[in-house]
Amino acid sequence: MTTSTSPAMTRPPLTIRMHDSDNVAIVANDGGLAAGTVLAAAAGSPTPELVLLDRVPQGHKVALVAIAAGAPVLRYGIPIGHALQDIAAGRWVHERLLQMPAARGLENLPLATQAAPPQAPLTGFTFEGYRNADGSVGTRNLLAITQTVQCVAGVTAFAVQRIQSELLPRYPNVDGVVSLDHSYGCGVAIDAPGAVVPIRTLRHISLNPNFGGEVMVVSLGCEKLQPERLLPPGSFAIADERQPAAPLGALDVTCLQDDAHVGFMSMVDSIVRQADVHLQRLNARRRETVPASELVVGVQCGGSDAFSGVTANPAVGYCTDLLVRAGARVMFSENTEVRDGIAQLTARAATPEVAQALIRELAWTDAYLQRGSVDRSANTTPGNKAGGLSNIVEKAMGSIVKSGSAAINHVLAPGEKLRTDQRGLSYAATPASDFICGTLQLAAGMNLHVFTTGRGTPYGLAAVPVIKVATRSDLARRWHDLMDVNAGTIADGTARIEDVGWELFHLMLDVASGRRQTWAERWKLHNALVLFNPAPVT
Ligand code: CA
Repeated sequence: MTTSTSPAMTRPPLTIRMHDSDNVAIVANDGGLAAGTVLAAAAGSPTPELVLLDRVPQGHKVALVAIAAGAPVLRYGIPIGHALQDIAAGRWVHERLLQMPAARGLENLPLATQAAPPQAPLTGFTFEGYRNADGSVGTRNLLAITQTVQCVAGVTAFAVQRIQSELLPRYPNVDGVVSLDHSYGCGVAIDAPGAVVPIRTLRHISLNPNFGGEVMVVSLGCEKLQPERLLPPGSFAIADERQPAAPLGALDVTCLQDDAHVGFMSMVDSIVRQADVHLQRLNARRRETVPASELVVGVQCGGSDAFSGVTANPAVGYCTDLLVRAGARVMFSENTEVRDGIAQLTARAATPEVAQALIRELAWTDAYLQRGSVDRSANTTPGNKAGGLSNIVEKAMGSIVKSGSAAINHVLAPGEKLRTDQRGLSYAATPASDFICGTLQLAAGMNLHVFTTGRGTPYGLAAVPVIKVATRSDLARRWHDLMDVNAGTIADGTARIEDVGWELFHLMLDVASGRRQTWAERWKLHNALVLFNPAPVT
């Protein structure tokens, strides 16, 4: 990355160029730069100085040289599009001047051809976590109430209010109650092949390490997703066997249609009574010192802008490498945001089999999008474009850098759970939708979530702490009580990528230990679980 500044002015014009071959750079200044602004030459720039011919908004691209019609526009060293007309040096290069390239085919990709750079193990870092009977570690101590169907959501919500007011004060070691409500469970083609995705997602979320293996279910009774289909015998027995909740193998289910229930309050009483059993055991949990390798971190971005790939995502990528060096598990996701970088990812796969799994998931996504008559370009939002991202190719190049530089060791299909021996970097195949990606990463077993944003989003989850990283100092300043880390300092020139990466790493250990709350936790900002259901509804 090279930056160009003119130190003579109080707020010098600042542009950022990502790669030596780039023929565009982005404007970093808050509020953009006016036409007529003189840019000093960036290090290695092909022109000595440049006069802006248009006003260029912050995050948007300026042509560093004349670009002929049909020639590639290069950012991150790759063509993000081809010029639809001649573009003079100094012009604003916006999406209407670009023809987006077609996605690369999924044939003849490099398979595990690029060895990851050697990285020394990182030892000595720990956090205070809740060790579970199955070996997993929680960062919070929460009672989760699993629901088989949306029909029970209202009754469960009423019971949760009573649990919070009547029971929680007696169990000070429990951080809260999480109602796992969702729109699935009935009125769906439950035997369709795609139904496996929402069902295993919900199953695996119930087993998230932050819930301590205390699985309790509220069911209506007549729904398609019967409790034993959601949690078959043997799938949920991770509770501490020294103090079993019930005879081993018996699932704790409150069924609202049970004949024993007479009246609404009888249903509520049943849920509250069962919650009390689980809360007693959760309250006995204590934090203990565990190695940083017990972190299971999901990274994603949302509300991205042109700075995402310059500041926040590279800092997260640096931190991803630190976590991998510490032996932790890190997953990145968002199928449509890696599709244009597939060749980079298959080359970085640890084995040809991992590369083939990446291809399998992205081929599935291509076909899924095609059924809806769209492709990966349906991803970009009006906010992305206002933030300077011309198209999905440019967005993808900035998104992928969250994954750092380590080899990709494993690939999870949507809703699958990472095993404790699946260390290092994984690709968890998910849609890029913030809520669906977060929900699927919860199912994969994450105990900490990192979320980067340039436009700004108050995103948060009830089940795990979400650390939000701002791409720009202006956002971090305005949203000072929503953003946990400001990576805009990288564009301002006051911090390096590695400085923010280490800041994030230390913050992760503090948040995982419960020593610090994220802003989303402080304000209890909880987005809904959104299950990915590729199967039909009926
Ligand atoms: Ca996202």
